[in-house]
Amino acid sequence: MGALVAAAAALGNTRTGRRILTGAIVAVLLVVAFAKAPLVAIPLAVAGAGASTAVTSAHPAPAPANGEWAYPLTGVYFKGRGFGYNPVKGCGYCSTDHKGYDMAQGCGATVYAAGPGTVLTAGTYQGYGNTVRIDHGDRLITLYAHMQWASLRVVVGQELVAGTPLGAEGNTGKSFGCHLHYEVQRSGTSVDPQPFMAALGLPLK
Ligand SMILES: [Zn+2]
Repeated sequence: MGALVAAAAALGNTRTGRRILTGAIVAVLLVVAFAKAPLVAIPLAVAGAGASTAVTSAHPAPAPANGEWAYPLTGVYFKGRGFGYNPVKGCGYCSTDHKGYDMAQGCGATVYAAGPGTVLTAGTYQGYGNTVRIDHGDRLITLYAHMQWASLRVVVGQELVAGTPLGAEGNTGKSFGCHLHYEVQRSGTSVDPQPFMAALGLPLK
């Protein structure tokens, strides 16, 4: 440390040295700023730590809004990654092109169907872990990923309404802490859930 201070003092004695020092300080500040950014994900992991793996019903079933649709998590939630290019720092296996909208209340929180439809798949699905996909007709599908193993409460072919409990928020599949990955697909293509939900009178954060 003493050597560092001595080196900094020596650098500070020349104009070039001062430039180097200023550059170094700016670089350090930038690194700190960027390092802080992914910390928003940490409360999710902390919230999930030590939570029971049992399905909880601490959150009341959502009242379907706008006639037919509702939020997939009720009440207060943490916003995770939004839709689009969104790498996860420190997670090599996490996708960089994010196909959905991440939200979390903590491990075990109940995940609900956002709209009426039929269960298309229920179980492990690609990298999504324990997942439910709901077919809403008109080539519209919603997907609820990373739920806890053995937490699913619906089966393939089951007819659902908005607010039907699907399972428990978890960390299965390519996940980095308990959260719900909520995805909306139109004609096989993932679309941004934020404008989609906003158009239904259900704005996300
Ligand atoms: Zn996600």
